[in-house]
Order: sequence, then C-alpha cells, then structure tokens
Amino acid sequence: MSDSIFTKIKNKEIAGTIVYEDDQCFAIEDINPQAPIHILIIPHKEIAKISDTSPEDKDLLGHLLYVSKKIADKYDLDDNYRLIINNGAGAGQSVFHIHVHLMGGRSLDWPPG
Ligand code: AMP
Repeated sequence: MSDSIFTKIKNKEIAGTIVYEDDQCFAIEDINPQAPIHILIIPHKEIAKISDTSPEDKDLLGHLLYVSKKIADKYDLDDNYRLIINNGAGAGQSVFHIHVHLMGGRSLDWPPG
C-alpha cells in the first residue's frame, strides 16, 4: 500500500508544515484551517481509522491525546480548544490515516455540524 498523504508530508515528499515530531507521532498544520490554530496530530503507524485499532494501540492513542495537549500549551490555547477524530467517511473522515484535529484560537460552538 502506498504511503498516506500525511506520511508523504512527514517524509518531505510533498509540501507541508511539520510543527512537532517524536518517536510515535508527528503534527502538521491543516491545509484548510477551520480555526486560527488547526493542527493535525498523526501517528507514524499508518492505521486508517480509530475503529481499526486493537489493544496493542492503546498507549499510542493515549500518546496522541497527550501530545495534543502539549501542542495546545505551545500555542497558548489556555483551556479553550477542541480535539476531534472523525471515524469513517460518513462521519467526515477524508484522510484514512488516523489524526487528531486540534482546533483553537476562536470561540467554538457546540454541537458541531
Ligand atoms: P478528516 O476529514 O477528519 O479526515 O481530516 C483530514 C484533514 O486533512 C482535513 O482537515 C484537511 O484539510 C487536511 N488535509 C488534507 N490534505 C492535507 C495536506 N496536504 N496538508 C495538510 N492538511 C491536509
């Protein structure tokens, strides 16, 4: 299977802005931001969807959330930001490599559309 678009950005095969990287994940700026700060936190492991994860992925999933918090701190989002994971095309997922959306920098309504 070919690399996902996010892995290609990480590998600098296509353009993108990488804002964080560690041994388990990396983060990039969203190309079509829905908020002043819109970052995607992505595991190196190419899992298509949350519903495809297995027990061995538990620590990795926790790591993605903790890194999201660290990035929110870095961008001074205080306590006002949203983390979203879309699972499946019917829920709005368009890139099939798990990613956490971190959005902030404006007031966020609830419920989302
Ligand atoms: P989702 O719809 O939850 O799968 O989210 C995919 C996200 O990836 C969207 O917010 C897109 O704007 C974003 N995206 C797609 N292609 C790129 C790219 N080349 N660089 C950065 N973000 C991208």
